[in-house]
Amino acid sequence: MPGPTDRPSDRPATDAPSPVVVAVDGTSGSGKSSTSRAVASRLGLRYLDTGAQFRAMTWWMLQHGVDVHDADAVASHAGTPVIESGTDPADPTITVDGEDASVAIRTTEVTGAVSPVSTVAEVRTRLLGLQREIIGAGDGVGIVVEGRDIGSVVWPTAEVKLYLSADASARAQRRTAEHAHLGDVTSTQAQLLERDTIDSGRVTAPLVQADGALAVDTTHLTLDEVVDLVVGLVEEHS
Ligand code: C5P
Repeated sequence: MPGPTDRPSDRPATDAPSPVVVAVDGTSGSGKSSTSRAVASRLGLRYLDTGAQFRAMTWWMLQHGVDVHDADAVASHAGTPVIESGTDPADPTITVDGEDASVAIRTTEVTGAVSPVSTVAEVRTRLLGLQREIIGAGDGVGIVVEGRDIGSVVWPTAEVKLYLSADASARAQRRTAEHAHLGDVTSTQAQLLERDTIDSGRVTAPLVQADGALAVDTTHLTLDEVVDLVVGLVEEHS
């Protein structure tokens, strides 16, 4: 499996810098998606939402009657779904077995099941392979990648690493405003905190602030302020 230090390349060796990789990790609802997409659009980079891939895997498990709390059952099916991610920040598609899953992966049912599925090592290994393949492709165009373990595990050599966080109440308010179907802010906040606990406490690739990552608390920042900051960091590196 290609990785950041053993990237296969059929390009001739040159002094040209490798395309920039921007790793955006952080808690649920901290602004990772909006920030990452906007940064990628502004800088003409690709965009990868790894959370969407974990959601796609979870949706497939639910569709096929797999008990998402049975790690062995999840593990034995982790290699089956064909998950494809488009990397255009203006239209970041996700398909499962060829079917558009962009709406289906955002339901409350998937959101409630995704963290347990993401603790399963076989799921992470499978998606890690896909993620590294996508990051390493792109014909010289860099990429902004968002998730929980991008700077720590998926691509530790990323040129720019961010760790976004925000107060739980601010996160819940943003999520509820974005997704009308989520219901009240209190239950959204409880769900976010439950996901944080599982994501931070799991054995394989937990949510952590990666070595070299800049921590940014977005509670009192506007989206434009965070985007300007990240764009500035990327520009410093090019
Ligand atoms: O980013 P989003 O909230 O859509 O991610 C959904 C879930 O996918 C997270 O709560 C986490 O359990 C899992 N995830 C992960 N590693 C990533 C990205 C997401 O475990 N790199």
